[in-house]
Amino acid sequence: MAELPPQVSILHVDMDAFFASVEVLDNPSLLGKPVIVGGTGDRGVVAACTYAARAFGVHSAMSMVRARQLCPTAVVLPGRFDRYQELSAKVHEVFGEVTDLVEPIGLDEAFLDVGPARRRLGDAGQIAEFLRGRIRTVTGLDACVGVGQSKMMAKLASKRAKPTASKAGVTSGKGIVVVLPQDEEAFLRPLPIRALWGVGPAMADRLERVGLATVGQVADLQLSVLQSLIGIAAGEHLFAISHGRDQDPVVGGRAMKAMSQEQTFATDCHDKTELSQVIANQAERLASSLRAKDLRARTVTIKVRYADFHQVTRSATQSHGLRAGKAIFQVADTLLQQLPLLGGIRLIGVSVSGLSDDGPEQMALFGEPERARDVDSSWQAVDEAVDAIRAKFGSAAVGLARNVQSRGLRDVTKQRNERFGPDAETPRPG
Ligand SMILES: [Mg+2]
Repeated sequence: MAELPPQVSILHVDMDAFFASVEVLDNPSLLGKPVIVGGTGDRGVVAACTYAARAFGVHSAMSMVRARQLCPTAVVLPGRFDRYQELSAKVHEVFGEVTDLVEPIGLDEAFLDVGPARRRLGDAGQIAEFLRGRIRTVTGLDACVGVGQSKMMAKLASKRAKPTASKAGVTSGKGIVVVLPQDEEAFLRPLPIRALWGVGPAMADRLERVGLATVGQVADLQLSVLQSLIGIAAGEHLFAISHGRDQDPVVGGRAMKAMSQEQTFATDCHDKTELSQVIANQAERLASSLRAKDLRARTVTIKVRYADFHQVTRSATQSHGLRAGKAIFQVADTLLQQLPLLGGIRLIGVSVSGLSDDGPEQMALFGEPERARDVDSSWQAVDEAVDAIRAKFGSAAVGLARNVQSRGLRDVTKQRNERFGPDAETPRPG
């Protein structure tokens, strides 16, 4: 293949049927079978399914009742969020080998700007090949990669690269699709309008009612005509993207980052109450940092170094992103209470990782109760007030009340973990 021009540097990497593929990876007897992951109860929703299930018409976000009707032979499994998170972290490590400009979209997809890696790794097509191979080697899972000069084109291209499923069976995809600048128009024109970014069902309905079904039909309109149909701002946006003009940059620097706080004691600490107090303050500071960056954290880790210097870490991953100090503290303290004091503790620290700004959405797919999130958000107003006071008077101005009563996060966590899988409740060694 001829060398790709430098402006074609945006990749959209999307794991194939991610949650369902992980289940097959961990249980090869499921290979080739219809497998559905999601809420298994009456009100459950399909979170992911294998292509063999898609051949029956099952798709994600469909009700589980409907999915079972369409595919009575499907193996239906509850999600194992910790495992998905673990593999997602590995995939993001691979991204980090290529570029810092990574913009994660949920657990299983991301945009990468690979422009800066060109000299080191080759053009965007070669980097796409490299990424697919590395992801396969490191995780055993398949990813598709779309390549273009904008995020929108890259995303549409990765979709084109996917396997397809119909009643006739499953057809493997190309794995990588590159859209060159001169081919964008031909690529876009036949697509349905709703394939474009920012075109929701309401707007699509409105356009279809006046006979506009394809991107090409919209692209042929005058800007003013389009604006008279859907409004000034929406018209301008749709006009631009229907011509392939998407300037939205890859916002990098968030993948796989963690924030941490730690403290070494002047003399070894033998008092769990004091340790709780220390991590409560650490959790507060982490929460302030998260809120300042508009991020949420799914994983909370505590690190303990004993008097003899041996070190232990314990992590717990939530199905939703946290950013309230109280919620982070409650998770950290639960982990702390499970550790022995032994001969005393010389250092304790809390860190948060699994950072994203799309926190709660992933698991909402499962049709789960949102109570743990409520615990987090109920503290958020308090935390925001604390941030404001600290900004004005300095960080020492507001301390923490000790022994603040548990608001039930532990119970909710337990309940959620039971719903998502058997192993999630035991903290993993970090
Ligand atoms: Mg995917």
